[in-house]
Amino acid sequence: MATEAAPTGLTARPRRAVIANLGCRVNQAEMEAAARLLRAGGVEVVEAEASADLVIVNTCTVTAVAEAKSRQLVRRLRRRNPAAALVVTGCAVAVEPAEFAAIDPSARLVGNEAKEAFLAELSELVGLRDLDDGEPAEGALPTLSGVEAVEPEDGAREGELPVSAPVGERTRAFIKVQDGCSFHCTYCIIPRARGPERSLQPEAVLADVRRALAAGHREVVLTGVNIGTYDGGWSERGPRGSHRRAACTLAGLVRRILAETEVERVRLSSIEPQHVTEELLEVWTGPGDGRCLPHFHLPLQSGDDGVLRRMGRRYDTAFYASLVGRIRRAMPGVAVHADVIVGFPTEDEAAFERTVAFIRDLDLAGLHVFRYSVRPGTAAARMEGHVDEGTKRERAEVLLRLAADARARFAARAVGATAKVLFETPEPDGRWLGRSETNVLVLARSPDGRPLENAIGWVAVEAVEASRPERVVGRLLGLVPRRPWPSSDAGRLLPVVTVPAPPLPSSGGCR
Ligand code: SF4
Repeated sequence: MATEAAPTGLTARPRRAVIANLGCRVNQAEMEAAARLLRAGGVEVVEAEASADLVIVNTCTVTAVAEAKSRQLVRRLRRRNPAAALVVTGCAVAVEPAEFAAIDPSARLVGNEAKEAFLAELSELVGLRDLDDGEPAEGALPTLSGVEAVEPEDGAREGELPVSAPVGERTRAFIKVQDGCSFHCTYCIIPRARGPERSLQPEAVLADVRRALAAGHREVVLTGVNIGTYDGGWSERGPRGSHRRAACTLAGLVRRILAETEVERVRLSSIEPQHVTEELLEVWTGPGDGRCLPHFHLPLQSGDDGVLRRMGRRYDTAFYASLVGRIRRAMPGVAVHADVIVGFPTEDEAAFERTVAFIRDLDLAGLHVFRYSVRPGTAAARMEGHVDEGTKRERAEVLLRLAADARARFAARAVGATAKVLFETPEPDGRWLGRSETNVLVLARSPDGRPLENAIGWVAVEAVEASRPERVVGRLLGLVPRRPWPSSDAGRLLPVVTVPAPPLPSSGGCR
């Protein structure tokens, strides 16, 4: 219960802010962007346990559990910060605004469609007129505070639909390039919560990448609800939403990021299989100095064509398998991760067996397993043939074993080779844990005891870690200096190529 009247909005420049996040990588990217803005404006971003005069909560509605956690989080943070300006945003607010208004009538609710305007308001409030001022922020890298992941990216625990992510990345910056989805997969509430697809203009993305680099990040992960639909903020659509012409494609955007920033590593968050185009593969394998990382996360969801059809997915297993083959031919050694949902309505024993066999044959580097969760208002909620919770649990366990095997098998292949690793966190025994370009977790010791956080180094991988077969251990051979690289490298970058487009709206485009 609030002990004193809380402000209803943002009228004064905050001094300290808590940013709490639930849910997917897109939520994480949005809140990282907010943290970057606040810190660049001199606002201290503190852990959730600390007190603050601004609290921002980004909620999630992807499952009933996520929604309940979102409400709990709002209550908890309000109790801790009775006088703070409280801003509640995200998908749960978009779907159930009345519930959040009832929890705290003084909270300011910001719908997903108003998030960009809210970020602009924040930057105005903290005195950042030019969002792309390029000035490095003082002090440690931004960290976000929040609640636990539903499913850890590299863990073996079972998740709920869809991916929820840990928060608090210090080394990789999640950059949102796109929001919303118009695909309406039958199980998914996201189109309702986040609205139709829309892309950020390339300039806005480039500005956020530069801010992340100025804050010390060396890797960016391009994130969106459905990033393959990226169109630079303008497109003309054909049947089923396909692009006829667009201001810019995702591939074009990445070309610009490579050509116009000093980013050292670019990764994609998950991308729909049908969006891995030849153009995108050309960028990934082209002369970007190896900065596009050989790691693709391709949602699969089922290995049964009937289930895929009823899910409203826009590919079948044959397409998926041939895509994985195409990616591997273009990038030998690439890591391919997938998501799978168990217990979708109508998934019978035979369909599940087909999924198991299909996944086994794919020889994945990782697999995220989710139990189907009914979301009211979706087409799947009204389908016949719902699967009982016990069966869902059993099927999830089978796939989790496959997932653990896949991670261990892929990690073991790194032994005997060198890996380029971005180090993230220290372990209790003094070693540092980092991520290779193919997303394998690598442990190494700092030779002189200096912290390795945010250092990129070459590691001779010597063995699989005995107690954690999804991790490998090795010897640090040397560190990679931070860019800028010699200017002669700039000439090796391809000019930007765009889809022919009519005169563009006010700004934007890949040219
Ligand atoms: S592509 Fe399908 S699963 Fe992904 S956000 Fe859109 S509707 Fe949801």
